[in-house]
Amino acid sequence: MFFATAAPGLSTVVLDPGHGGANEGALCPHTGQHEKVYTLQIAQAAAEHLRAAGVKVILTREDDRDLALADRVRLANDAGADVLVSIHLNSSPRAGPVGHETYFLSLSASDEAARRLALFENDGAPVPEEPAPSAQGDLAAILMDLGQTQAHHDAQALAAHLVRRLAPRTPFPARGVKQAPFVVLLGAKMPAVVTEVGFINHKDEGRYVTSDAGIAAVARGLAEGILDFGRLVNAPREKRSEK
Ligand SMILES: [Zn+2]
Repeated sequence: MFFATAAPGLSTVVLDPGHGGANEGALCPHTGQHEKVYTLQIAQAAAEHLRAAGVKVILTREDDRDLALADRVRLANDAGADVLVSIHLNSSPRAGPVGHETYFLSLSASDEAARRLALFENDGAPVPEEPAPSAQGDLAAILMDLGQTQAHHDAQALAAHLVRRLAPRTPFPARGVKQAPFVVLLGAKMPAVVTEVGFINHKDEGRYVTSDAGIAAVARGLAEGILDFGRLVNAPREKRSEK
């Protein structure tokens, strides 16, 4: 049976506002506020867009509270979500780096900056640092699950759609699709990514991504990327499987 939904290929999307409660995330030197404030605002605004497009959206947190990384993944799995997007703002020891980037799960990080970022975002949760043979075995075991192999493959496509749709929504560069060992993505049964929408400590971008206009624009780009993923990746597959 075929029936069209308002948003092809998507029924439930879980958005994860990074950090919360005592886990404040990176500090914005311009506003004196932390990352957790803006991840929630961006998630709420993105949720509005998606709901307007007919998608059921669940936020892992609706307010400023502590929430373990494993609980965020569990919530998405239990909800049977089509997509999990964990929303963050980047920060760097130096003030130089600028732009947005989106990650899918890998035990080996794209580069040293990606590895350090994952350590920060993991809130001290243990993760294998480098793919030692045993750790590789663990990840391989996780990925061997058929559904998760497909989901992991699709996560790369989801990341690419987010990067593509964010690009025109921010005046700062697209740093592309990257990989790193983010604990919040471990064990997700659906395509899951961490998006870092901009550097909170950059002199210009830090102001943009914490401004009302920047939050609205970034949220719109994220929603558009998620809708594209549903329409271009999920929906054609669902159609094929109905034949
Ligand atoms: Zn973060």
